[in-house]
Amino acid sequence: MADVNEMKAVTENSIFTQVQRMGHEQVVFCHDEATGLKAIIGIHNTVLGPALGGTRMWDYASDEDALEDVLRLSRGMTYKNALAGLNIGGGKAVIIGDPKKVKNEALLRRFGKFVNSLGGKYVTAEDVNMGDRDMEYISYETNHVCGLAPTMGGAGNPSPVTAYGTYVGMKAAAKHTFGSDTLAGKRIAVQGAGSVGSTLVEYLTKEGATVYICDLFEDRAAQVAAENGAHVVGMEEIYDLDVDIYSPCALGATINDDTIDRLKCKIIAGAANNQLKDEIKHGKILVEKGIVYAPDFLINAGGVIHVCLDHFTDYNRDRAMAMTERIYDTCLEILEEAQKQGITPQEAAMAAAQKRIDQVAKIKSVL
Ligand code: NAD
Repeated sequence: MADVNEMKAVTENSIFTQVQRMGHEQVVFCHDEATGLKAIIGIHNTVLGPALGGTRMWDYASDEDALEDVLRLSRGMTYKNALAGLNIGGGKAVIIGDPKKVKNEALLRRFGKFVNSLGGKYVTAEDVNMGDRDMEYISYETNHVCGLAPTMGGAGNPSPVTAYGTYVGMKAAAKHTFGSDTLAGKRIAVQGAGSVGSTLVEYLTKEGATVYICDLFEDRAAQVAAENGAHVVGMEEIYDLDVDIYSPCALGATINDDTIDRLKCKIIAGAANNQLKDEIKHGKILVEKGIVYAPDFLINAGGVIHVCLDHFTDYNRDRAMAMTERIYDTCLEILEEAQKQGITPQEAAMAAAQKRIDQVAKIKSVL
């Protein structure tokens, strides 16, 4: 018979304990023998509206890792969507498996049927290892998909809107830090010359900033640099540059034990998700070092604003850009609040998102 401590450990690691700790409303395990589908849908919070968040496909080392990821990502969407001022909640889905080996039409359509069975409580979108065609397959089985390609009647790529939000968020951080939001004459390091990074560089150089850019593919960085009058730097060199602003627009977790002491910037403001390897530890070190961190999930929300308006309204680009522009005011408020309370910007942003959810919850029962 298991002793009391063993039983306690099992209880503490049980799925319900994990779900309770993260505050989820519902977690759906999707399994289908015929297509080999194994997926988990995490619905974190629907107080503000249907849970919206992308579907990620990943060859997880274990089912536990997949569950942990979907719980963490769906909770993140609740905060991102709330802070963006959208009337949607937070959700996310993961499909377990190597996309090169298991992804096919039948599996994706079976997943679409699971999404459909939730009756709109969860709305899915594209995420890591999912492309336009994959979303098209899912959309054959459910209307609860957003961010579809223009060929499928969607408003297309959200990246330009994400880049705009990142740009205005960066300007707000500059206003907070330097007393002026102008980026002219500022030295800015952009990591990643992809869809978001390349458009961001355009905004920055147009305003007169000196931009340094790197990419895993050097030719990509070289092309963006040539088109915009920026300077190519090495992938490691980017952390050591003497710049005013560092803008991570490639990968997550680039602010970590190895890089944090190398950074000489005054501001970090970029589009990449989960930039802080350890939210609490690295968030606090940045405050101690006097580096202002514009929370990623706040300033990269342009993309979700774009797909949300596309799905729930008659899409209008000007409206999407106007809503995205509000990131400037929100970012300024969050940075000021963090300073006032002596907490990290990440903590202030999460508290502001939770406050909005709690306030809206009060009027939920009123028609
Ligand atoms: P992308 O794939 O188009 O571009 C990423 C670029 O980063 C690629 O060119 C890649 O070669 C490069 N890269 C990868 N590893 C690198 C490294 N170690 N150093 C330098 N460059 C490296 O992606 P994107 O759509 O531009 O998104 C950029 C980031 O922003 C991602 O983290 C994404 O999750 C996040 N994000 C994007 C959106 C959006 O609307 N596209 C919205 C929210 C968040």
